[in-house]
Amino acid sequence: MSDIIHLLPDSVANQIAAGEVIQRPASAVKELLENAIDAGSDNITLVIKDAGKTLIQVIDNGSGMSETDARLSFERHATSKISCADDLFNLNTKGFRGEALASIAAIAQVELKTKKEGLDLGTKIIIEGSEVKEQEPCSASKGTSFSIKNLFYNVPARRNFLKSNPVEIKHIIDEFQRVALAHPNIAFSMYNAENEVFNLNKGSFRQRIVGVFGDKYNQKLVPVTESTDIVTIEGFVSKPEFAKKTRGEQYFFVNDRFIKNAYLNHAVQNAYDQLLSKEQFPSYFINLKIDPSKIDINIHPTKTEIKFEDERSIYAIIRTSVKQALGKYNISPTLDFEQETSFDIPLSKKMETVKAPTIKVNPNYNPFSTEVSKPSNSSTNGAIRAAAKQESKNWESLYDDFEKSTTEIIEQQPQQKEVEQQVISSNWDDEDTERGRTLLQLHKKYIFTQLKSGYLIIDQQRAHERVLYEKFTSQLKSKKSSSQQLLFPETIELTSADAELLNEIKPEIVALGFVMDKVGRNSFVVSGVPSEIKEQNIKQTLEKLLEQFKLNSNELKLEKQENLATSLARSASVKAGHFLTTEEMNNLVDNLFACEMPYSLPNGKPTIISLNLDDLNKQFNY
Ligand code: ADP
Ligand code: MG
Repeated sequence: MSDIIHLLPDSVANQIAAGEVIQRPASAVKELLENAIDAGSDNITLVIKDAGKTLIQVIDNGSGMSETDARLSFERHATSKISCADDLFNLNTKGFRGEALASIAAIAQVELKTKKEGLDLGTKIIIEGSEVKEQEPCSASKGTSFSIKNLFYNVPARRNFLKSNPVEIKHIIDEFQRVALAHPNIAFSMYNAENEVFNLNKGSFRQRIVGVFGDKYNQKLVPVTESTDIVTIEGFVSKPEFAKKTRGEQYFFVNDRFIKNAYLNHAVQNAYDQLLSKEQFPSYFINLKIDPSKIDINIHPTKTEIKFEDERSIYAIIRTSVKQALGKYNISPTLDFEQETSFDIPLSKKMETVKAPTIKVNPNYNPFSTEVSKPSNSSTNGAIRAAAKQESKNWESLYDDFEKSTTEIIEQQPQQKEVEQQVISSNWDDEDTERGRTLLQLHKKYIFTQLKSGYLIIDQQRAHERVLYEKFTSQLKSKKSSSQQLLFPETIELTSADAELLNEIKPEIVALGFVMDKVGRNSFVVSGVPSEIKEQNIKQTLEKLLEQFKLNSNELKLEKQENLATSLARSASVKAGHFLTTEEMNNLVDNLFACEMPYSLPNGKPTIISLNLDDLNKQFNY
């Protein structure tokens, strides 16, 4: 059998690659402008004709190229910007793939004129469909000029796919503006069909913004500056009164490169807090300077998305600095800046652990209070107990009730003996059955506590699940929930199906205290959670919630609200294996016995079992 695999000719390979890099005239504009910047130019001119379909020309006064470089620049993977993979993590240039010129040359007629400083003559190259048609010395001024004629002339399908001139021009202008805004220290001009569209002198960032968007912008802007170990921020946001009905001018630049980032966008929007309604959008122009090794720009061929190593801290810093900027300019004296005044302490990941999770105490009920004669070591608990005393119910009666329903379970626990011994010995060591509640956590799973007539073993996870379940159920009924704002809002990326599901149950999720916004097709930013939920595990909690929700609807056919309360209680409950402090155990037990049905989970599984002192005594032959 004859072999059938062969290597594609370069021209074909380049043409295929071009599909990735050059989708429309605006993509070629971007690549050429970026090359001109990388060449160290300080004056760049863009000329287009017929919305870039017949001509795109970029003229710069940068380094220029030698004859050999000029020829090589059109080869695929030919670049002067990186030489090894490590360089990828220390990029200071726009380009690095060495694909743009090869791609453009594969699908257009290109004329290059370039000259290096100090040389008398430059080089002219004409290349069409990857084929060099002409190469000769020429007279030229220092720098480079690329003329791209008849883009997609040899790929009719792509050419036909191009939109009307106004649409394509809009794309070109967008690219031009992004590049021009990122480089106020370079003069840019743009001509369309011989009309001057932009003529931007070198200047400050503010001057550049005004140059691009018009004089009226000057009064709209509030400066934002912040410098931290992680990132340096410089830029402007619009005063709230100039907010727009649509996402207008919203620009992030990272190391002078325009990027899109829904998460960071949320940080700015969030900083405006109540200053803007949901339908209003601020304008912003924010430059972030960040150590190139802390970002990865290599994730998208057109490179408007980048990955940050420490996105959450950057989020917090942006939000805080924008808030401060708005506050400083007395735009919102009512904003609360107390918590976030400055960055004297360098922001680091340590801050993520600022909030300790707590379990809320129900001060109205304490089943143990009749047995309490002394407050426990914890003064909070003492106070809570004192306050609860009036309303306390008789603990024994709860126990009576409970005893009937759990005898069976008790009998099913043969290995309990060993544990029993430990509990009792710990109590007897204290030599004080009247000293109040003694709580002991065993195997990071069970809480042991003593009663007059015996002792209880509480399953910490199930107990917490019961507590949360009742809380969530009543919140869903009353539509009253308490929410804690996250210091570091979290983006969660879901599968399409899960995103769809989350959308569907969003009203209920919000009623439970979640604050979330959809920021992409399948991604959400969570900026607040029910106060019962631990801040560290939000993504996990939500994922588990969705999992549990799906399971419950399939297997138990639970109705939506019931399902949600059950699922969230399951996913947010403290798990076995988790160490509990005495205070946490106290709160948990208090809350459990404040429940309508403390003894079991909604599915009937027990939360508590009780053991009788008499039985124990018998075992010792008393
Ligand atoms: P990349 O920018 O990823 O390196 P390109 O295909 O865009 O790849 O360009 C290839 C090479 O051609 C660049 O690395 C650079 O050395 C050279 N080059 C391109 N445009 C210019 C220019 N305007 N001035 C000087 N050199 C240029
Ligand atoms: Mg390039």
